[in-house]
Amino acid sequence: MRKKLVIGNWKMNGGRATNARLLADVVSRVSGADGIDIAVCVPFPYLGNTSQHLFGCRVGLGAQDINEHESGAFTGEVSGSMLIDFDCHFVLVGHSERRDLFGETNERVAAKFEAALKSGLEPVLCVGETLAQRNAGQTNEVVFEQLQAVVDRVGVSRLQDGVIAYEPVWAIGTGETASPAQAQAVHLALRDYIRALDSQTANDVQILYGGSVKADNALSLFSEPDIDGGLIGGASLDADSFSAVCLSAKAAS
Ligand code: PEP
Repeated sequence: MRKKLVIGNWKMNGGRATNARLLADVVSRVSGADGIDIAVCVPFPYLGNTSQHLFGCRVGLGAQDINEHESGAFTGEVSGSMLIDFDCHFVLVGHSERRDLFGETNERVAAKFEAALKSGLEPVLCVGETLAQRNAGQTNEVVFEQLQAVVDRVGVSRLQDGVIAYEPVWAIGTGETASPAQAQAVHLALRDYIRALDSQTANDVQILYGGSVKADNALSLFSEPDIDGGLIGGASLDADSFSAVCLSAKAAS
């Protein structure tokens, strides 16, 4: 039985004072959400402070990106061992904003996935199609290609050491969510694609949904059989919304 997992992605938002309030409120409000895993991925400068705030709490810590190299002359970049130093457990790789705004290719994302595994982090591989690709009937082709690049790099069984997040680009930050049936269809397609390579990995790997998940749509999405939780952007910046999403994951588990 796969455990539900809810990860907040703060993106480039926050500040020392607002983070402290948000984290305190989230931690107190998710205390009833036992039996599921919860984490927040915060901007790099706040990892140290957030790690202190979350010490001993059930909310885990993650980062939003990683450089694929271990160290060296890569100005402005952050390595896996640095993230481990700040108690990160998760790291997002291949978020659509990184792919789109910063030109990250499938191959680079796969290298980042591998670097995260080597550092002892749990990579969260984000995959998803644009609206044009969906309208052209290319959804499965796009997400399979994104996934296959990682499989080529690390082997299919290593997918179990990370998490997959299906995030249709047209649903991210737009207020437009995939319907539970639309999301489930892609989650099942991804799981079947993996099953053709390794059935144990297909059964075990968590596949999260992301894209305008909020308190009022989380339960119906998380109740689908192949949706194992969510990657939450905007709603993770509000303690009431994020904790309601976490409690929906518990209700669906
Ligand atoms: C995200 O950034 O991964 C995301 C899903 O954002 P939002 O929930 O705001 O659509």
